Amino acid sequence: MYVGEVRMRPVIEQACVEFPPGVCYDDAGPKDYASDAHWLYPRFINPDTELLNFSHHAWLIEAGGERILVDPCVGNLRDRPGADFYHMLDTPWLERLAALGAEPESIDYVFCTHLHVDHVGWNTRLVDGSYVPTFPNARYLLPRAEDDFWKLDLEGKLPGIHVFNTGIYAECVLPVIEAGLADFVEEGASVAGCMRLIDTPGHTPGHMGGVLESAGEGAVLCGDAIHHPIHVIHPERPGPQHDWEQAGRSRRMILDLCAETDYWLAPGHFQPPHVCKVRKEGEGYAMEWPEV
Ligand SMILES: [Zn+2]
Repeated sequence: MYVGEVRMRPVIEQACVEFPPGVCYDDAGPKDYASDAHWLYPRFINPDTELLNFSHHAWLIEAGGERILVDPCVGNLRDRPGADFYHMLDTPWLERLAALGAEPESIDYVFCTHLHVDHVGWNTRLVDGSYVPTFPNARYLLPRAEDDFWKLDLEGKLPGIHVFNTGIYAECVLPVIEAGLADFVEEGASVAGCMRLIDTPGHTPGHMGGVLESAGEGAVLCGDAIHHPIHVIHPERPGPQHDWEQAGRSRRMILDLCAETDYWLAPGHFQPPHVCKVRKEGEGYAMEWPEV
């Protein structure tokens, strides 16, 4: 798809990973989204299991000869016992990226909305026993507050719900910092003249999003600030987030931004078509989907 003059395409790692509804908010279940069932099932929710369908993809953005990669997935051969959908993957994701005309050497920027395993994985790859940057010519844009938080992992100090991400900082973040390829970014940073970064905390302490703008059109790449369409239906319920109340405020800010500007909403895990438009509807929001 094009956003103004900027081309934006998903790079799929896993087309469908199923998560329990509680990954979005604590009491999520069919009764909470019954009035939207006609379009949620079966694309976004498996009607046989009531599990939520998540796509795992990065976004490749090409603007004026520059390439930005947003949230480069899990990566291959990561040892994640207990998390089958991240454990020892062997996908042709790099080949899929190359098939879009983007060899690793051609990527100018890698922007990680946050530092969870499924958003930093291809930052590095294992070569001769050590993790090295996959994109040797890129600037890796890492939210400063995310870096401040996740480096606690190096001291074994990750709290509570974050323990599942243990080891990822050392594998996927530290090598790009040590290679001198990292820039720690804050709200207002501009990327390739077409994307400005905004704070969207809550899911993780320093989660950020990217607002892509070109020729009067736009898209909000919001990572995991919005996981699944049921987060749009119920933006502010308690859930397994770093700070669920802040996560709710960030969600509403993103949805209001999309509704007011008519920009695309482009999260990290929506099933095809991976993006939607958002309209205010009373106190809530309605979603409009392009043809797949
Ligand atoms: Zn994610």
